[in-house]
Amino acid sequence: MTSTAVSIPMPAVPRRRRTPAQIADAMPIAGPKKVLLAAPRGYCAGVDRAVIAVEKALEHYGPPVYVRKQIVHNVHVVSSLEAKGAVFVEENEEVPEGALVVFSAHGVSPAVIASAADRGLRTIDATCPLVTKVHREAVRFAKDDFDILLIGHEGHEEVEGTAGEAPEHIQIVNGPHEVDDVKVRDPEKVIWLSQTTLSVDETMETVRLLKERFPTLQDPPSDDICYATTNRQVAIKNISPRADLVLVVGSANSSNSVRLVEVALEYGAKNSYRVDFANEVDESWFEGVATVGVTSGASVPEILVQDVLRLLADYGYADVEEIVTAEEDLLFSLPKELRATLKAAGDTSRGLGGRGTRPAS
Ligand code: SF4
Repeated sequence: MTSTAVSIPMPAVPRRRRTPAQIADAMPIAGPKKVLLAAPRGYCAGVDRAVIAVEKALEHYGPPVYVRKQIVHNVHVVSSLEAKGAVFVEENEEVPEGALVVFSAHGVSPAVIASAADRGLRTIDATCPLVTKVHREAVRFAKDDFDILLIGHEGHEEVEGTAGEAPEHIQIVNGPHEVDDVKVRDPEKVIWLSQTTLSVDETMETVRLLKERFPTLQDPPSDDICYATTNRQVAIKNISPRADLVLVVGSANSSNSVRLVEVALEYGAKNSYRVDFANEVDESWFEGVATVGVTSGASVPEILVQDVLRLLADYGYADVEEIVTAEEDLLFSLPKELRATLKAAGDTSRGLGGRGTRPAS
C-alpha cells in the first residue's frame, strides 16, 4: 500500500502584539539585565555645525534651501530638515539658477564648486573643517608631485571630494586587500592620507602593508581619521568585551556608524546590530542577553538613542551605566558665508558643539 502525504492548510493565526512586559517576561536570563552606554557617542562638532548651518539658512533666507547630497548621513536629520523646507538634491544641476545651495559636511571637489559658480548659485560650504584639512594636505602634496594613496571607500562622498582636489596624483586604496594593486611612479615619493571616518585598526593595517611595499611612505602631517571617529571607536572597544549585544544607532550610509558595528564584533560583542530607529530593534536579538552595549554614530541626534534606551527599559534593561572614555567640547564656527548674514541680522545664537556626546550628569 502506498501512502501520499497530504498537507492540510492550517488557518492563519493572527499574530497578537505583545506588550513590552510580556516581551520582557519572554526574555528570561540568569542575573541582572544591564545597559552599558558609550560616551562619547552621537553628534560630533562637524555634524552639529552642518545641521545648524542648514537650520540658520532656512531661518534667515527662508525655504527652499537646497542641499547638495545628504547634509549628514542620517535619515532622521534629513527628514527633519526636509520638513522645515530643505530640498536635498544629488547635483548642482537640480538647483534652479541663482538659488542657494549648501554643500554637505562630507566636502566637495573643486569641480563641484566650479559648477555651482557656472550656474550662479549662492553657496554655503558646510564641509567639516577636519575634512577640509585633508583636502589641503592633498593639494599640498600634489603640488610637491607626490603620489598620494588615499585610504578610503571608493564612491563615498568624502573620498570623491578629496580625490577631486588632485585626481592625477591620488589613487584610492579601499583597504588591505588592495595594497598589492597599488602602482606609484617613484616609491621614494609617496604619502598616504585617509577618509576621516574609517576603522582606525583596519587603516593601520593597510598602512603597515603599504609600508612593507614602500618603506619610505610618508605619514600625513596629522591624523586624518578624526577625533570623533576615534573616540567613538575607543568607547565601544571598551564596552564590547562585556556586552552580549551591542546596538549602534545610525544610518546604513553612515560610514562611522557601520564601522562601530564592525569594531564591536571585533572586540568581543557576541552580536551587534545597527538600527536607525528604536522600532527596528528585534526582540529575537535578546535571547540570553544580560548586558547590552549602546552607542551611536557621529551623525545621530541623542533623541534617537534615548528612544532605544526607553525600549530597552521596557524589555527589562532599565539599569543604565554610562561608560565615559573621553570628554568632547570641540565647537566649530559656522560657515563664513553664513556668519556675515547672522552678524548683520544680530543673530548671536549658536547651538552647542558635540550635542549628545556629554555624559549625563
Ligand atoms: S565625523 Fe569627523 S570629519 Fe566627519 S563631520 Fe564629524 S568631526 Fe567632521
